[in-house]
Amino acid sequence: MKSISIFGSTGSIGCNTLEVVRSLNRHGYPVAVKYLSGNSRTEIMIQQIREFKPDAAVVFSPEGYTELKGISFPNKCEILFGEDGLKEIISRRDTDLAVNALVGFSGLVPTIECIKNGVDVALANKESLVVAGEFITQLLKQSKSKLIPVDSEHSAILQCIQGESLKEVSGIILTASGGPFRDTDAEQLQYVTKEEALKHPNWKMGNKITIDSATLMNKGLEVIEAKWLFTLDTDEIKVLIHPQSIIHSLVEFSDGSYKAQLGVPDMKIPIQYAITFPERIRSEYERPDFVSLRNLTFEVPDFGKFPCLKMAYEAAEAGASYPVVLNASNEVAVELFLDGKIKFTDIAELIRNTLDHHESCNLTDLDSVKEIDKWARNFVYDYASVLH
Ligand code: NDP
Ligand code: MG
Repeated sequence: MKSISIFGSTGSIGCNTLEVVRSLNRHGYPVAVKYLSGNSRTEIMIQQIREFKPDAAVVFSPEGYTELKGISFPNKCEILFGEDGLKEIISRRDTDLAVNALVGFSGLVPTIECIKNGVDVALANKESLVVAGEFITQLLKQSKSKLIPVDSEHSAILQCIQGESLKEVSGIILTASGGPFRDTDAEQLQYVTKEEALKHPNWKMGNKITIDSATLMNKGLEVIEAKWLFTLDTDEIKVLIHPQSIIHSLVEFSDGSYKAQLGVPDMKIPIQYAITFPERIRSEYERPDFVSLRNLTFEVPDFGKFPCLKMAYEAAEAGASYPVVLNASNEVAVELFLDGKIKFTDIAELIRNTLDHHESCNLTDLDSVKEIDKWARNFVYDYASVLH
């Protein structure tokens, strides 16, 4: 029996993970859900506690915590609050794997705590590696924890390098759907609405990553994520637009061979692989119908039209504190766009300005990462207030 925790269980990856747990249990791979965490969607959390009977659930929103504390669950589920609650359950060291499905910077401390406590992490929260890749890599060297990617592209690469020597990997190609504005004229992007930006052609995901996919910042964050996961230089990581989202990424080997991983765009497949890694377990998830697909096409991304991808490459190359600034300014800009306060094209403008005003510094510990994150957030709020 594998025992897991799911941080961010009420979100898109969290709910998909619980769907995978149901399927694995049906297919003779027993998984017990020991801990859950959520923020504001308490109705979903209540249903999850009733169905999966975890020992404890951590709630981040104060109202949600009060509401859940008032409920007497048949399995006596303990209700804990916020980051301290999450640290408390991680320190018990009684799960085999934690699925980190938190969104944004909020996922960083849980990733670090798991590694410090020797708990394996199935990482959906790419932002952890973007802001603290070097620090996390160092911690992993001193820990028995493994970091297993959930992101479909990184799962594809992990699958392609099984049985291979990393020395023979000469590069990787991350595929990107191109998002909802792949065919939109660059001049029209300033007019696109939140509703249009939230309509992803192939994937159903949380709001933040859906906007990141529309700006291509998501692919930029994935470049930085791949750099740390697979110990690559930035120039060994290429991005290709592949609108069908069937090939999830490719690895190039020194002899000129390429390996790719294919499947329908369904996060349950990489989530399941992260839970059962390195084993594969049967599933009934949809298979691609290659005949009706007819075409698998590829294009080079347009860096002029999607400056976020370019800025992510630049931040990855510059290293030090730049990726923290990139991530924080993006998080705030996406939040302002979703709140209707700025235009779609202002997202890139705000990030560019914040990066330009930042003076690089070395990150020595978690506190220095938090400090730079805070500086960048404040800078974006101030700059956005005078934007229009
Ligand atoms: P969602 O917004 O759907 O879910 C986020 C989860 O985190 C929810 O459980 C939410 O709680 C919780 N949460 C949000 N803010 C906080 C906070 N400040 N403190 C504590 N908990 C918080 O996001 P996704 O599931 O789409 O994405 C999660 C991560 O996975 C992201 O890093 C994303 O980039 C990555 N990812 C997602 C993919 C997808 O298909 N969705 C694909 C690949 C990667 P509540 O809902 O209760 O408020
Ligand atoms: Mg991805």
